[in-house]
Amino acid sequence: MTELAPPPQSTGCRNAPILKQRGQREVFCGLTGIIWLHRKMQDAFFLVVGSRTCAHLLQSAAGVMIFAEPRFGTAILEETDLAGLADAQLELDRVVDELLARRPDIRQLFLVGSCPSEVIKLDLARAAERMTERHAPSVRVLNFSGSGIETTFTQGEDACLASMVPVLPATDERQLLLVGALPDVVEEQALSLLAQMGVSARVLPAPRADSDLGIGENTLFALTQPFLGDTHAALERRGARHIPAPFPFGEEGTTAWLRAIGHEFGVDEDIFARATEAPRARARKAIAQASDALRGKSIFFFPDSQLEIPLARFLTRECGMEAVEVGAPFIHKGIVGPDLDLLPEVPTLSEGQDVDLQLDRCRAARPDLTVCGLGLANPLEAEGLATKWAIELVFTPVHFYEQAGDLAGLFSRPIRRADMLALDGSAASPGQKYPGGLGSGPHAGRP
Ligand code: SF4
Repeated sequence: MTELAPPPQSTGCRNAPILKQRGQREVFCGLTGIIWLHRKMQDAFFLVVGSRTCAHLLQSAAGVMIFAEPRFGTAILEETDLAGLADAQLELDRVVDELLARRPDIRQLFLVGSCPSEVIKLDLARAAERMTERHAPSVRVLNFSGSGIETTFTQGEDACLASMVPVLPATDERQLLLVGALPDVVEEQALSLLAQMGVSARVLPAPRADSDLGIGENTLFALTQPFLGDTHAALERRGARHIPAPFPFGEEGTTAWLRAIGHEFGVDEDIFARATEAPRARARKAIAQASDALRGKSIFFFPDSQLEIPLARFLTRECGMEAVEVGAPFIHKGIVGPDLDLLPEVPTLSEGQDVDLQLDRCRAARPDLTVCGLGLANPLEAEGLATKWAIELVFTPVHFYEQAGDLAGLFSRPIRRADMLALDGSAASPGQKYPGGLGSGPHAGRP
């Protein structure tokens, strides 16, 4: 257990000043969440009511499944719908009737709003109510927005889970609910660790609509993702109580998260130690190995995934990095407060974005690593800055002890690559490798 020095003492950033900015943003839309959600909910279908652009986004991001019928699709709004010349609600009824007749395996249907459906003010809540009446009890129809007009890409999952909370049955059972879609292997690890502590848990989203998951005043919930603000609020409206804790990234975060749950459920300290000692040791060893390249390096977070604050806590406290700026789309202290408590003082903690001003700050700081969205990564690489795509952090298993080394590795790889390029003299100087610089388009020339 001694491979890493203990994390430094911190006075925390909970009350640090926050630079709040509102301006042009560079983010992906919430439809992205469908890519991981459709794998978690095995009897759900996500019907995006959108444009051909929405269909292309989903298709290219999720790939084409040739071995099974996909569980997402797009009802494309044609020009006649957008111009108000056709009754889009009638069209939608027809599409849904055809879909459900052809796919009797569907038990939950999500109507997912998009920029076009919001611009023409297509009322998907009314459509979902009408369709639920028509297709109940075999199918539950819900709606949420995946529009990119005012959202970041992780808000899609939040909106989806929040839409499910009001329709879950009531229960008085004292229970623990883990909230957030995790890769199956990671979810199993979490449930196994909790079981070793003598705590059983349920999960939202449940794999199937007919699971007996209920919510009530004796439900305690722990978030596994920091971007679930609306779901947090919806659960509290049902009387459930949140267990605040640092998020389970790295050895320290995972231990603190488990300890907070253990405290609520009266887990004895010896039992807690027995359940966590071996995986803690493995995590510390793996982090020590993977974080060699990170020690003393600086990092700058653009706001994107909403994982920024917990990850900055992990990278500064367990991997020896120095955060120059930690930007997050939203800072919900009821959710990330415990991570802020541990985060060492950073020069700039920012919420929201005015991308040109933030790019100026990043260029002035010349960080060793910049975490940002796809649209900024290539241009910044072209200016000689090493980058990490924020979206990878959501697609890769990074939670809990066994993934802690991989999490550090995700950040050390681009730094190693930049070091190697610098050694052989082939690092890009501004404008050389990708001559278009920031005007060259988001995906051009990604190495
Ligand atoms: S929802 Fe909006 S941002 Fe997302 S793909 Fe469709 S049009 Fe583009």
